[in-house]
Amino acid sequence: HQAKQQNQKICFFDPEAERLVQQYFETQLALEKALSSQAFELHYQIQCNEKGQTTGAEALLRWRDPVKGLIPPDQFIPIAERSRLILPIGHWVLQEACRQLSLWQKHPTSEAWQLAINVSAVQFQQDDFVNQVAHCLAETGARSQRLKLELTEAVMIADQEKIIAKMTQLQAMGLSISLDDFGTGFSSLSYLRHLPLNQVKIDRSFVQNLQADSSDAAIVKSVVTLGQAFNLDVIAEGVETSEQVALLRTMGCNHFQGYYFGRPVTADKLVTQTT
Ligand code: C2E
Ligand code: MG
Ligand code: MG
Ligand code: MG
Repeated sequence: HQAKQQNQKICFFDPEAERLVQQYFETQLALEKALSSQAFELHYQIQCNEKGQTTGAEALLRWRDPVKGLIPPDQFIPIAERSRLILPIGHWVLQEACRQLSLWQKHPTSEAWQLAINVSAVQFQQDDFVNQVAHCLAETGARSQRLKLELTEAVMIADQEKIIAKMTQLQAMGLSISLDDFGTGFSSLSYLRHLPLNQVKIDRSFVQNLQADSSDAAIVKSVVTLGQAFNLDVIAEGVETSEQVALLRTMGCNHFQGYYFGRPVTADKLVTQTT
């Protein structure tokens, strides 16, 4: 029995690992194809203020596969990041978002909306990222004040000074910067103080247990208080119930996003959800 265990430790052939490697390469290939065949879509989820009025939306990437249907980003973004395909994919997202913004600008109901896009750390770290943004805005006529970039703490793995300079440059151009999934990362509190941010987005995991878990409630309350102290917008993501809205309000959180207000939908369906 002992010998068998020893054997297992030095065993090189792991069918599960091989399957994963296989899957990685298959997905990478399929992603390349998806890019060239325009199989990506942006869906939009509304964001609301304390009055329940729509202030804008977040663009969420989907991959439409003829066989598998609509594939959510969690299933391909990590592979796209590792293979750096996130660079052309992210560029497509930026272009498509700016195109959508330029359309919204033409309608009275949506002309003031801000559109938030998720930017991968790999993408943000590119030297020409700011140029890419400037170019897309110029090309589409979308106003920089209407575009918001959602970054996660992962962006800070790279040269922090460079990253901060880039954020400052984008803000000077008129864009807003939001720190996404806040609370799930590492040394978050110092980021709130040191990063040039406009908004902090409380991660869904804290909102989910708001009623049941008093420590999650305490975390949310602290983030709201800190946000106010640093003059940041605080938005809660993953809001699903009216009870959560009520609790968040009492804590001073005035911006919301979640299924309670609307699910991510295509641009044409978004109009029917807005107030
Ligand atoms: P995220 O930026 O934190 O986006 C919020 C996620 O929560 C979305 O999942 C959204 O559909 C989901 N959500 C919103 N409201 C609720 C709710 O009330 N309840 C629950 N249970 N979920 C809710 P989605 O669309 O699957 O996106 C997952 C993640 O993929 C995003 O998390 C973001 O990190 C990433 N992602 C999405 N689009 C892009 C993109 O264009 N570029 C990059 N780099 N990443 C993206
Ligand atoms: Mg986001
Ligand atoms: Mg988020
Ligand atoms: Mg999240």
